Amino acid sequence: MSVRVRFAPSPTGYLHIGGARTALYSYLFARGHGGKYILRIEDTDLERSKREFEEVQIEDLKWLGITHDEGPDVGGDFGPYRQSERTQMYIDIAWQLVKEGKAYPCFLTSAELEELTAKAESEKIAPHTYHTKYRDLDPSEAKKKIDAGEEHVIRFKNPGKTWTFKDLVRGEVTFPVDMVGDWVIIRSSGMPVYNYCCVIDDWKMEMSHVMRAEEHLNNTCRQLMLYEALGAKVPEFAHVSLLVGEDRQKLSKRHGATSVKQYRDQNYLPEAINNYLCLLGWSHPEEKDIFDVRALGETFSMNRFSKSPALYDIQKLNFFNAHYLRALSGADLVAHIEKSIESSSPFHKQTSDWKITCCELIKEKIQLASEANSFMPLFFEK
Ligand code: GLU
Repeated sequence: MSVRVRFAPSPTGYLHIGGARTALYSYLFARGHGGKYILRIEDTDLERSKREFEEVQIEDLKWLGITHDEGPDVGGDFGPYRQSERTQMYIDIAWQLVKEGKAYPCFLTSAELEELTAKAESEKIAPHTYHTKYRDLDPSEAKKKIDAGEEHVIRFKNPGKTWTFKDLVRGEVTFPVDMVGDWVIIRSSGMPVYNYCCVIDDWKMEMSHVMRAEEHLNNTCRQLMLYEALGAKVPEFAHVSLLVGEDRQKLSKRHGATSVKQYRDQNYLPEAINNYLCLLGWSHPEEKDIFDVRALGETFSMNRFSKSPALYDIQKLNFFNAHYLRALSGADLVAHIEKSIESSSPFHKQTSDWKITCCELIKEKIQLASEANSFMPLFFEK
């Protein structure tokens, strides 16, 4: 079986450090197993998705050296790689499912839905239990309603059973029979939902492995039923542990810089970020902390993932940065540090040899290139 692994970000913001970790893992696994690493842009949320975010995310990934074999900017045999350009296919497949009796148009209005949800709440049952009104509507009746312009969604007909799969990180996972109901695959706007497109694409793009964050674990329940309905092969799933801050809460802005762009702007070294991210939830078989992630090859295996949440600690990242900064020397060291030195500093007017001597002197004292600024007065003030 050929290994194909994708990273599927939504371009609704900058690339999150957790997303970069998923991308890195997917890339390392594909590279280590002679496979392909694919970038797919999940932009079905038309309001929040922006092309400029997609561009910056691609830049961030390039900066980290996580380069894809197929994607919207480089093409490939399984394109298009932007979901917004695949909408017609999703809709056609949805109607095919309707034809096969595996999905159905549903005409519940928002007022009706609210009422049913309130009723279910008062009866302390799951709201989706009541969302099945149009499940068995005669197809010709449904067609009449659609022809008359009645607003509708397409719901997937949940076959109502328990779903089990073997996650490569979490082991056997079972979802209870009543976890979801007949869920919407195509919204009334005509736009398909994430859980639906994701399966169609992973199937059509022939993914062998899907690596993503633990927060997507529950989505796998809906996705499994869809694979079955499509008669499609289920990929291997690996749900990697959450990244948390010191307070053990999911990593967010209040814990500090969380976007790759911020680290790029602050002139961190990409090799330091890769090395640190690689160790957040995965461990080296020889217990190494410092290693070249690109040289891992087959060493990057699925059986070294941890199930526990990984603590994201910027101090630790800075420690890795210091290590890689000290490993630089000569012109490379200067090229890196000078990007962070204030443009007005007399540093920039010095000779190359002087700059090298200066940077070699201070590199042992700093963790980040920007800290070099505080040493400049030593050189230029009497
Ligand atoms: N677009 C989803 C996200 O950004 C991808 C989830 C997946 O990998 O299936 O979280």
